[in-house]
Amino acid sequence: MDILNKVNFTALQNALDHVALVMGEANLSRHDHGHFSDFHQRRNVSQFRCRNIFAIIRPKTLDHVQDIVRIFGRFKTNVGLHVISTGRNWGLGSAEPTTDGVVTLDLANLSTVRDIDCASGWAVIEPGVTQAQLAQRLAGTDRMLNVTASSGHTSVVGNALDRGVGLRRQRTEDLAGLEVVLPDSEIIRVGWWPDEKRRTSINPHGVGPSLLPLFTQSNLGIVTAAVIRLLHRPEKQCVLRLHFSRDTLENAITELRRWVAQDLVSGVLKIYDAVSTQSYGGKPGQHLALVCVSGTSGRVSAITQTLIDEARACSLFTSVTRSDLEPAASNDFVTQVVEHAYAGDPSKNEHMLRCAVGQDADHVDTDGDGWIFFLPLVPFNGRAVSRALELIKQIHEKTGIRAGSTVNALNADLVDLVVSFKFVPNPENTARAHLALDIAYKLFVDAGFIPYRLDVDHAHWMEKLVPDPSAHNLVRRIKQLIDPDAVIAPGRYA
Ligand SMILES: Cc1cc2nc3c(=O)[nH]c(=O)nc-3n(C[C@H](O)[C@H](O)[C@H](O)COP(=O)(O)OP(=O)(O)OC[C@H]3O[C@@H](n4cnc5c(N)ncnc54)[C@H](O)[C@@H]3O)c2cc1C
Repeated sequence: MDILNKVNFTALQNALDHVALVMGEANLSRHDHGHFSDFHQRRNVSQFRCRNIFAIIRPKTLDHVQDIVRIFGRFKTNVGLHVISTGRNWGLGSAEPTTDGVVTLDLANLSTVRDIDCASGWAVIEPGVTQAQLAQRLAGTDRMLNVTASSGHTSVVGNALDRGVGLRRQRTEDLAGLEVVLPDSEIIRVGWWPDEKRRTSINPHGVGPSLLPLFTQSNLGIVTAAVIRLLHRPEKQCVLRLHFSRDTLENAITELRRWVAQDLVSGVLKIYDAVSTQSYGGKPGQHLALVCVSGTSGRVSAITQTLIDEARACSLFTSVTRSDLEPAASNDFVTQVVEHAYAGDPSKNEHMLRCAVGQDADHVDTDGDGWIFFLPLVPFNGRAVSRALELIKQIHEKTGIRAGSTVNALNADLVDLVVSFKFVPNPENTARAHLALDIAYKLFVDAGFIPYRLDVDHAHWMEKLVPDPSAHNLVRRIKQLIDPDAVIAPGRYA
C-alpha cells in the first residue's frame, strides 16, 4: 500500500480527464477514481500476481502518445506509465507491470506499417504491427521477417524491445532505428532512419555513441515506431531433424556446435528436449535437433549432404530426416512451426501456442493453462548444457515440476536456453511452479548461467545479474537526468 500513499489522486484524476479530452473516453479504461483496479479480476497465463493498475490508455497516434506524456509530466501524479505493444509477453508477465500503482499505456492501436523498402531491406512499423501482418506484407517478395515461434499476433517491436529471439537471430539484430517519445515529450529518432532525399546505407549505430540499445529493456522512453531490417529470402531451404538420446547429449552438442562454428547452419539451431517437444506439440521421444540449411539450391544440396555424412560418421544420432524429402507429420506441430518460421512464415505458430497453453492468442491470459519461462544464457558446449539439464532435474526433485528446455544456439559460443514450466493452474500447482522458478534463478545464477530476460516477479534480481554495479548506477543517473518525475514506471530491468 506504500505506493498508494505516494499517489496524488487528485492530480491523477485531472491527468486522466485531460487524456480523455485529447483522445476520447472510449480509449481509456479507468477504475473508480483511480483507487481500485480490476486486479482481482485480471489474470495472466503465468499466474504472477496482478498489480494494481489505475487505468489503461490506448492511444491511436503518435500525437496522442506525446500528449499523454506531456499531461503526466505536467500533473505530477507520482504514477508512472507502463508501456506495452501488444502485451503478449507470455511466460514473463504478459501485460503486467512490475510494480503496483501504474497506468498502462497500451500501444496496440498504433498499428501502421508506415513504409516498406524491399530493395534496401527495411520496414518502418509501429508497436501494434504483429509478426503475422508484416510477414503477410512480405509474402511473395524477396525479403522476409525474422519471425519468432510465438503467436503471429505478437508485436515485432515489443518482442525486439524485450530482446526476444527469432528463428534466424536475436531480434535486437533486426532493429535499425527507433522513434522514441522521451519523458519530457520530445520525439527523437535513434539509430538509422530512411532519408527521404538520399539513399543511405543502414547503419544502426550511426556515428558516435550508439543510442539505440539504450531503449531496449528500458524505461527511458516510449517507442512509437521502429525500422526493422528485413532478411533476404533464401532461394531454398532444408531443415534436418536429428534425434539423439540423453546419454549422448554432451557429444551430440559438441558435434552440433562444430557444425555451427564451421558455418554449416543457417539461423538459430534448436534442440528440444523430450519434455519441451511434448509441451509444444511435437512427437514425444528423444532430444530433437532442428538444423536449417538455406541459400541457393546448390548450396542447400551440398551442405545438407555434408551434414548427413557428418551425422552418419559420428554415429551419435538415432535418426536423421530432411524436410525436403519427408514433410513434417500433420500432428507434429514443433517441426511444422519451426520449418515455416525459418522461412519467415508464422502461420503455423498458433498450433504450437494451443499445444503449450490450450488456448488461442486472445484467450491465453484469461483461460490458458499455466506457463512460465526462465531464460538463461548458457555457453554452447556439451558440459554446460548438460549441467543446465542437471539443474532442471534438481528443480524437478525439489518441486515435482518437470521443466522443458529448448536450446537456441545464437552463435557457436552462446545458447539462449528456454526453460518452460507448464502447470495446471490451481493453488497448489501454481505455488509449486513459482517455487520452481525461484529455485531456477538461484541455481542457474550460482552456476553462472545468467538470464537475459526477466519476469515481472524477479525484477529485484537485476542488481545481482549485472557484471559491474557501476553500469547499473550509470543507468540510474541517466534515468534521473531524463525522467526526474518518473513519468515512465519502473520496469523489469530498470
Ligand atoms: C508457445 C510460446 C512460444 C514463444 N516463443 C517465443 C520465441 O520464439 N521468441 C521469443 O522471444 N519469445 C517467445 N515467446 C514469448 C512471448 O510470447 C513473445 O516474446 C512476445 O513477442 C512478447 O509479447 P509482445 O510481442 O506482445 O510484446 P509486449 O508484451 O508488448 O512487450 C514486451 C516488453 O517490451 C517492452 N515494451 C513493449 N513495447 C514497448 C514500447 N513501445 N516502448 C517501450 N517499451 C516497450 C515492455 O517492457 C514490455 O513488457 C513465446 C511464448 C509462448 C507462450
